[in-house]
Amino acid sequence: MTTKSSAFNLTDAVGKSLYDSRNAPKDYVSKPGLKPSELGSPCLRKIYYSFHKVPSNFPWEVENIKAAEAGDAFHAMFRGWLKRAGLLIENLDRRTGEVPLSFIDKKTPDPEFPVFAPDLGVRYAKVDGIVKVPEGNDRSGLWILEVKSKAPDKMHWVKSPDRDRYQGTLYAFVLEEALREGKFEHIPGLTGETDIRGTVYVYIDRATGDWKEFWEEKNPEFMGEVISKALLVLDHVERKALPPKTKDFCNWCSWRDKCALEYKVEA
Ligand code: SF4
Repeated sequence: MTTKSSAFNLTDAVGKSLYDSRNAPKDYVSKPGLKPSELGSPCLRKIYYSFHKVPSNFPWEVENIKAAEAGDAFHAMFRGWLKRAGLLIENLDRRTGEVPLSFIDKKTPDPEFPVFAPDLGVRYAKVDGIVKVPEGNDRSGLWILEVKSKAPDKMHWVKSPDRDRYQGTLYAFVLEEALREGKFEHIPGLTGETDIRGTVYVYIDRATGDWKEFWEEKNPEFMGEVISKALLVLDHVERKALPPKTKDFCNWCSWRDKCALEYKVEA
């Protein structure tokens, strides 16, 4: 939380507004579903808690809210840069030909591609965009875009997509299937396309706007691993069995207190 001082200041006023709005009780209950961004965690229990949308033990702190919203802004900024360079394909509504409105608030245009993979427990997820590399390049073709932003002191540690591969690989295979089913035929740049080459992972430094990029071709063997992991989580969900603990940044895990008490979802 922010430090209180006697004189009015924006730090306290805005901080309180952010804190209150992010931690306000929701007037809806999120349905369970696999969150692809969590699939790379080695801790099945963490993925299981995330699947069930188990409320965190801790409220959102202002510092974390600011970092999350800065991350969203960097996503939008990077997509804008790709668009200016003529490399980005965005989702368009089949009926109107316009960027569809957000599934969540039904007001904000949302150019990200929806992902549905019910067999793997994914009810709804979103892909940042599709990059189309022009013909004549060694990377010509369609690539899933996966953008992450990082604090400057974390950039040094980014050497590969690491656990983000689970998410990026799943998206590449699921969107390719949708492409082959003709779901994006109405989108210029995707008409007649049937193949996704892979995923480009971009990690942006939140201080400088510089980034590291990693291009990875689709890997059916690794996709097999992704499927097995998703099915293992679903198996625990169906059996109402609490998966084992596996250490994964436990000191920062949102569910560390519940985990210590062996909290199990009964519904
Ligand atoms: S506290 Fe550690 S072991 Fe427990 S769910 Fe979180 S990451 Fe897994």
